[in-house]
Amino acid sequence: QPLIGVLALQGDVREHAAMLEQAGARVLPVRRSTELSEVDGLVLPGGESTTMSRLLESFELLEPLRERIGQGMPTFGSCAGMILLAKQALDGRPDQRQLDGLDVVVRRNAFGRQVDSFEGDLEFDGIDGGPLHAVFIRAPWVEKTGDGVEVLARVPDTAGAGDAAARIVAVRQEAVLATAFHPEITGDERVHRLFVRMVRDA
Ligand code: GLN
Repeated sequence: QPLIGVLALQGDVREHAAMLEQAGARVLPVRRSTELSEVDGLVLPGGESTTMSRLLESFELLEPLRERIGQGMPTFGSCAGMILLAKQALDGRPDQRQLDGLDVVVRRNAFGRQVDSFEGDLEFDGIDGGPLHAVFIRAPWVEKTGDGVEVLARVPDTAGAGDAAARIVAVRQEAVLATAFHPEITGDERVHRLFVRMVRDA
């Protein structure tokens, strides 16, 4: 069984840990660089990306994490985690730091001020068994993808999606996976299974 870390500075750490265990991994909460060096892969949970980037700096994890991602450690970010992984975040605070693991530009809180959260069923490339229920909470979307970034899912074009319809909300670039939504809170572990497979294959 692979050992997968969950960055445990802030955010919905326990939910990710539970889903990873259901998907067949061992889990280690990661708060220091010694823990980071033990894991075969890492999940960056949802939460608040500016706060998380500050905490990464004060826990002296930012550089070690950049380094491991650069070396190809499988990494999965949901929501705030996706924002951190992007090379650029629009509507971010000036002191927000990026991990630069994904050649994408994301927009923070993109779903709009009135619609803080949004739910829908979407097709997810590489995941079988029918549409995936996706919950978006003050979520980003991906505005721009570089070469080598695979688009795995878009917002379904259903009532309520508004301007968000067809926006990119899941991507993969080599060993880095990111979703704008929160697969850890729906009880459906298919995205985590996909990530555990990526870790096994790495
Ligand atoms: N809006 C948050 C941010 O910008 C992300 C929200 C989430 O992770 N649910 O960091």
